[in-house]
Amino acid sequence: MDDCLMGLSLAELAQVLADAGEPAFRAKQVYGWLQKGEDFAGMRNLPAALREKLAGTHRALGATILKTLRSEKDGTEKYLFSLHDGNLVEGVLMRYHYGNTLCISSQVGCRMGCAFCASTLEGRVRDLTAGEMMGQVLAVNRLHAEKDKRGVTNIVMMGSGEPLDNYENVIRFLRLVSAPEGIGVSLRNVSVSTCGLVPRIYDLARENLPITLSISLHAPTDEARQRIMPIAKTYSLEELLRACRDYVKAVGRRIVFEYALIEGVNTSLADADRLADLVRGLLCHVNLIPLNDVPERNLAAPGQKGIEAFQRRLEARGVSVTRRREMGADIQGACGQLRRKHLSQEGTLA
Ligand code: SAH
Repeated sequence: MDDCLMGLSLAELAQVLADAGEPAFRAKQVYGWLQKGEDFAGMRNLPAALREKLAGTHRALGATILKTLRSEKDGTEKYLFSLHDGNLVEGVLMRYHYGNTLCISSQVGCRMGCAFCASTLEGRVRDLTAGEMMGQVLAVNRLHAEKDKRGVTNIVMMGSGEPLDNYENVIRFLRLVSAPEGIGVSLRNVSVSTCGLVPRIYDLARENLPITLSISLHAPTDEARQRIMPIAKTYSLEELLRACRDYVKAVGRRIVFEYALIEGVNTSLADADRLADLVRGLLCHVNLIPLNDVPERNLAAPGQKGIEAFQRRLEARGVSVTRRREMGADIQGACGQLRRKHLSQEGTLA
């Protein structure tokens, strides 16, 4: 079992305390503190001896905030989270009128190798546990509670890592974060984003969770997709779309296709037409993302006119489409940028 208490359900925590010879009412007390993001030292109604005993066998926190950057433009906050073994991951909190969306990480680094993504440049270091994913959410909630501000209402698994490459821990996290006895985030407010691990999409459909499944599509042909996403060499677009249709049929919720516009790769009007053909008849929405430039890879977004023309063409073809708002551009809001900057300043990254 997870040696981080934030990775346990109330029932599992009750077992840990029972095994330690503690009375049953302690479980709810400890759980209550954990859900507030509190470390052992702050669990004020627990005897010091119990806190010490627990600290001898477990960690309380799954992640701690090492650094916070706040955008002057739109209030977006970017966090650098530190894990117990010194590894770092990133998160971003975006404020919308309907609530606060936290983007969290599911792995340290990533092994999917997408050409435009900063998180994958050094490969995957390790998977995150469910407790470490909870730790990110609870640390941000705690920070906001201190300032009397609203906490996390929505979660997107779009930080570093490929969630479906860490399937068991992600499913476990989804159950923990939505537990009604805890912070109870509605799974309708949680998005899981994948580059397209087809067998896992079938597995996820069988879980029948009311999350939003986001697919990083990024190209309308196998050839173009293979140029920027190695996973496209393993699974064709046909196989991916078949899995998506199965998913919608099983779960009954629309899929969101993420499409990062990359100049010279996937932005022509013919690409828009092919994309419209690909998703025709499927309950879905397309989210256009102007690429966040990755200087290491020499890839960039098209100009405003190109983006608008692409969007208008999809609309004309009857596709439900929006353009993702760019937030936090002044604070390295984009994927993997902050961790890389921090590590290179520390001299741990070439
Ligand atoms: N591995 C998952 C989730 C992490 S990435 C996935 O592939 O979906 C979250 C989203 O950000 C994905 O759609 C990803 O393709 C996109 N992304 C990564 N780097 C980007 C960049 N430089 N500009 C714009 N979007 C990017």
